[in-house]
Order: sequence, then C-alpha cells, then structure tokens
Amino acid sequence: MSLYRDEGVVLRTHKLGEADRIITVLTKRTGKIRGVAKGVRRTTSRFGARLEPFTHVDLQLHTGRTLDVVTQVETIRPYGEALIADYPRYTAGSAMLETADRLIMGEKEPALRQFLLLVGGLRALSAGEHEARLVLDAYFLRSLAVAGYAPALVECARCEGTAVRAFAIVAGGAVCGNCRPAGAAVPAGETLALMNALLKGDWPAADASAARHRAECSGLVAAYLQWHLEHGIRSLRHVEREPAT
Ligand SMILES: [Zn+2]
Repeated sequence: MSLYRDEGVVLRTHKLGEADRIITVLTKRTGKIRGVAKGVRRTTSRFGARLEPFTHVDLQLHTGRTLDVVTQVETIRPYGEALIADYPRYTAGSAMLETADRLIMGEKEPALRQFLLLVGGLRALSAGEHEARLVLDAYFLRSLAVAGYAPALVECARCEGTAVRAFAIVAGGAVCGNCRPAGAAVPAGETLALMNALLKGDWPAADASAARHRAECSGLVAAYLQWHLEHGIRSLRHVEREPAT
C-alpha cells in the first residue's frame, strides 16, 4: 500500500453503497483521479463537506487495487460556497467542472495546464470581476487550446489569409471568403475579436465588449466545444508532455 499526496479540484461525486462516495478529482500533479471516501455520507464523517464539487482540496490517498482510498482531506479554497449563491456563476462553474472531466479522459495522466486553467477559472468566477459567461467562454477556449484545438480567429483556418469573413467549426474556426464552406456562420468582426481577446486573456478588451457580441461569442464557443467533444477529443496524453512542476 503506497500513500501519496496531491492537491486538486473535486469535479464530481457519486454514491457508493450506504455511506461511501466515489470522488473524481483533477489534481495538480497526478492528473484526474477517482477515489473512495469511506463513511463520507455519515453525519459524523471526519471529511465533513470538504469533498464536494468545486472544492480545492489537499488530499492524501493510498493506492488501491481498483480505486484509491482517501485518507486525509484539507480544504484549500471552498469555491462552491462563493458560487452557490449566484445562479449564473454556479451554472458556469458546473459547466467548467463537466468540461474538465470530459476533456481529460485518461486517469493519472498529468494535466497541469488544465488544472491551472480550472483553478484560475473558478477563482475568477468567485471573485466576480468579470461577467460569468465571459469567464466561462475564456475557460472553454483556453482548455480547448491546451487540448490542441484552438480555433483560428485572426487568420483563415484553411489558407491563413487575414481577410476572415466567417466561422466554420468543421474547418477549425475563422475562414476567408474563398475558403468559406456552405452553411458557415457569419459573425460580426467584433465577435471574432472578443473570442481572440478571451483566448489571449485580454480582459480590458473582453470587459469592454457589447452584449450582442458576447451572446454571439457564447453561441459559437459552445457549438465549437460541443463539436469537439462529440467528435472525440484525443486524450491529453498526446499534447501534455511537459513535466509537472
Ligand atoms: Zn482562406
């Protein structure tokens, strides 16, 4: 039996038997893990409410044959407490947890950049400095980029020309008039600029954007994310090679 420690964000939990729970956690060094928290549903549990979704925790586990077993938990930041009182922030946070879980398919494969993006996204949501939907769209665009699927936004996804006119998910993002496939969306130039600001982390530009461009951006980003999730995002093992530091 070997013990290990890591910190991570609880993505989801489900019941196991009468009193136990299986928790899925995106950790900083180990990647995505699933572990059993024994007796956590009893009122006397020493883990209390620390193993709830959104909570950034410091964990100690011992390696089991199938599932690892949680032996210690300390709360680092209970992001759920800040989010639960505000419905738009809560739903944005829930979408982040679900997306992280779906983008990172393999267990125990280090995904440090995805972990840092998720913690940064939850922190920004709970700080409330930017509109929840902008924080969520920034998280979607950046986590897709880390997974190897950044959309083209400034140059045509097909010919790299700079006169982009349309957005075509199947083509990989913005396209010029010549490369534009039938049925491509034709967003406002400001919408593509907003998507680029969110991808690059240019918050002054993103915060100054107009409501209609935010709405158009959210629609395109959601469709782009959905398409990649449904068409099988490759495991992050192919794109996250750098060692955890
Ligand atoms: Zn083109």
